[in-house]
Amino acid sequence: MNITKEYLSANPNPDAGALAYVASLESVHSVAPEIADKIVQELADQRTNLKLIASENYCSLPTQLAMGNLLTDKYSEGFPYHRFYAGCDNVDAVESRAAQIACEIFGADYAYVQPHSGADANLIAYWAILNQRIEVPGLEEIGESNPSNLSREDWDRLRERLGNQRLLGLDYYSGGHLTHGYRHNVSAQMFDSYTYTVDRETGLLDYDAIEAQAEEIKPLILLAGYSAYPRKIDFKRMRRIADKVGAVLMVDMAHFAGLVAGGVFSGDFDPVAHAHVVTTTTHKTLRGPRGGMILCTEEFAEAVNKGCPMVIGGPLPHIMAAKAVAFTEAAKPEFREYAARIVDNCQTLAADCQAEGMTIATGGTDNHLFLIDVRGFGLTGRQAESVLRECGITLNRNSLPFDPNGAWYTSGLRVGTAAVTTLGMGKGEMKEIASIIGTVLGNTRPATVTKGKNAGKSSKARYEISEEVAAAAKQRVRDLLSRFPVYPELDLNFMQEHFQD
Ligand code: PLP
Repeated sequence: MNITKEYLSANPNPDAGALAYVASLESVHSVAPEIADKIVQELADQRTNLKLIASENYCSLPTQLAMGNLLTDKYSEGFPYHRFYAGCDNVDAVESRAAQIACEIFGADYAYVQPHSGADANLIAYWAILNQRIEVPGLEEIGESNPSNLSREDWDRLRERLGNQRLLGLDYYSGGHLTHGYRHNVSAQMFDSYTYTVDRETGLLDYDAIEAQAEEIKPLILLAGYSAYPRKIDFKRMRRIADKVGAVLMVDMAHFAGLVAGGVFSGDFDPVAHAHVVTTTTHKTLRGPRGGMILCTEEFAEAVNKGCPMVIGGPLPHIMAAKAVAFTEAAKPEFREYAARIVDNCQTLAADCQAEGMTIATGGTDNHLFLIDVRGFGLTGRQAESVLRECGITLNRNSLPFDPNGAWYTSGLRVGTAAVTTLGMGKGEMKEIASIIGTVLGNTRPATVTKGKNAGKSSKARYEISEEVAAAAKQRVRDLLSRFPVYPELDLNFMQEHFQD
């Protein structure tokens, strides 16, 4: 406790979270100094690089600290008050509380807070829909409720039916997620999977085209939701399409759950009001711990509850505790203001980037993200991502719809404002960020390939920027971040002095 005591004597009235961080780092350092070093180094990196990754955020210290405790020691397979292990009373209380607040903030009938991640939540949701709509009726036809009692022949017939169902989701290149039926993900192997795209001209969802496709394909699941679509979705319309073709409407709101919780997406644009099943991550705009969750109507509650053991093993009680803390924060009126500011900042930043001469896909945004088409700078997304990171801005390259540069090099950048909004930035800072991005991209050129069969051609990966321009951009980012430090409660200098070599 020597280091913590030293911290306390220098800070007699410390922030509880800041003090807990020092104490926990001292504890970690005593066993694995190299890990304590990396935790501190990550804070240093976050303090010097501006985070515009649309899928990331900064969760609160109470949320972080709820994750680091003895709840991790407990096995609790099953669901609250129905466990396969003894001694789960406290986990029952934690999990029920997290689910209860989730139902309150989203207006959901039922919440399942066990999924370890968004991908897990989607897998559980797929299996729950298959279970409820295919397996249970199939068992009823056979006159047996327990699949373990089926003959080998009946089981094989049922498995064949389960394996031949159709999924219709947003194409990866139009902003859908890998778990929405992409062939390199298990979702396309579980389902006979089809995708809809955005309109080639407008870049927007075309509901008439989706309806026509759904009528032709007759999917079991119509899936809406995205990782890189900058506009809101009319979920009422999507539900009408699903009902018309007898599909289950599933929405993956992983990216925009915070905007739903914060009331930005309401009415026709509120997925929970219209979908049968809604999945999400808890760590993006919702600003919680890394994890997943499912919200559903009563019809699917029993099937969703079978997520453990159908898909996942033991739940993570410490993460469910952190979810309860984060949801409590999201239930506060301040969170509504926060959600509205994320979108304000995003629209401002997109407009400022346009004013800097950048092309923005669909001409703007309704949510927390937008896409910059970097072809106008003569760059690939890969080059743009790398040069911006060199200059202190962290974001990711992203395919544009029908991208000629493919999924690796890409022609786009995805920009998100949830994290900078958490830091407290507003209009003036958005203008400065757009100006830095414009200056960096405008002064970057593709490098020339010097060796091999492409010698003499422009590289798609490497780039050139003058040291002066890069250094000036980096300095501007640092100036900005010094006014909006990441986790301002934490004393980085003290941590570096005591926990890094
Ligand atoms: N669904 C969507 C729409 C996502 O964007 C993501 C992650 O970015 C996921 C699911 C997967 O979430 P996780 O990384 O927690 O598995």
